[in-house]
Amino acid sequence: MNGLWQRAADRIRDELGQVGYETWIGPLNFVGHQGSTVTIEAPNRFFRDWINERYLSLMRAALSKEAGEEMEVRLTLGENAAVATPQQRPANGHANGNGNGKASAASRATAAAAPRGDRHPTLNPRYSFAEFVVGSANQFAHAAAQAVANQPGEKYNPLFIYGGVGLGKTHLVTAIGHHIWASGDRPRKVLFMPSEVFMNEMINSLRRDKMGEFREKFRRVDTLILDDVQFLAGRERTQEEFFHTFNALHAERHQIVLTSDKVPRDIPGLEDRLRNRFESGLIADIAPPDLETRVAIVQKKAVLDNLRLAPEVAMYIAQSVSSNVRELEGCLTRLAALASFNQSAITMDFARQALQDLICNHDAKPDVESIQRTVADFFHIRLTDLKSKKRTQHIAFCRQVAMYLCRKLTDSSFPTIGEHFGRDHSTVIHAHNLILRRVTSDPAFRLSIEKIERELKSIRANAA
Ligand code: ADP
Ligand code: MG
Repeated sequence: MNGLWQRAADRIRDELGQVGYETWIGPLNFVGHQGSTVTIEAPNRFFRDWINERYLSLMRAALSKEAGEEMEVRLTLGENAAVATPQQRPANGHANGNGNGKASAASRATAAAAPRGDRHPTLNPRYSFAEFVVGSANQFAHAAAQAVANQPGEKYNPLFIYGGVGLGKTHLVTAIGHHIWASGDRPRKVLFMPSEVFMNEMINSLRRDKMGEFREKFRRVDTLILDDVQFLAGRERTQEEFFHTFNALHAERHQIVLTSDKVPRDIPGLEDRLRNRFESGLIADIAPPDLETRVAIVQKKAVLDNLRLAPEVAMYIAQSVSSNVRELEGCLTRLAALASFNQSAITMDFARQALQDLICNHDAKPDVESIQRTVADFFHIRLTDLKSKKRTQHIAFCRQVAMYLCRKLTDSSFPTIGEHFGRDHSTVIHAHNLILRRVTSDPAFRLSIEKIERELKSIRANAA
């Protein structure tokens, strides 16, 4: 495999998570790389349409970041396009995309490319306002984004949106881009750029002695959207250049939109003068969505993907993934893939089964043995001592912690836990209450316990 594609694929994996990656990106083949165009082969039409619609921008961005210049992706069909290839994960390949409405994906993509529709031709077509679900956690950011989209350069300039990973920042600012591009009496030039691409392009221009062109390119745009500005941290030369770009655009009342994972003052290594600029407009945050919003997001995505989803299935997915919309989508994507390949309906049983490996990462309960082992490791004692009758203070204490965690994290009863330690249930109850009191009253102690719980979780995630 080509090195550039390999590195870009690694990036995509970080974005999509392992399951989404294996479902959608794993089956793709690198074909060739010519100039700034990379050709990628999809195993069948279903894949190609799906990738075109959902992952093309992601692939383009990842390749651009790795190449240090803007890259294009050309998707082709494999020779045996109608036949399922061995690497395809879902097993029985009804591979030509008939029967579940996916054909419409391609026509939609074409429609999006028509001159001055309602979507900007090179921005991710799915990241529009229409497809963004508003809830209490993103209400303010959404309102600010709409205000800016309706009156670019006039209301809030810059607009700075911050929040955790996978919460919809890129989606929201892309929606601004679509809207500004599509509205107004003349086509407006909208430039969306990940900060890393800005940096790489600048470095390349410096190297090739083409800074004049570089500056020209940015100063001609009506709206500049710079995604993930935290990447400018500590890059002095890039910050200096961006400072001038910013000023030039701002002076002309051209809209600037920025995203970041933190507020400006918390971005380490950000120059004061740039921080001041970032803070001079409107700052809006996006927090993790509540359960209601998550259900609404799942339902909306299901409709967009032509998936029939019973309400209890939507609820099941929304409850299973709590902090990251991208993961939520990963669950749905997996369901969509399996359902389409198996041509089956998404019942609750189907969903449970399909999402098992995905969700068990979050949900699975550890067993008593792994708790015993982890606690023994954590406190540097031998497992045999933990399970022995020894009563030295330190060992007894570790045993109590292990008993407490067994009760908290497994479904085992007090007597069952006792059996694993060769003790009776009253000893376990005593240990449990003792540790529980300490967890409640001693914050430092609570942190240690949480650390053990996290360790248990990562062991399970790795085992899955
Ligand atoms: P970020 O840039 O904050 O890391 P993204 O904008 O890439 O997050 O969002 C991750 C995924 O979650 C995208 O596919 C996006 O469409 C989806 N998403 C996030 N928030 C929402 C929302 N409120 N409504 C619909 N989709 C959302
Ligand atoms: Mg983003």
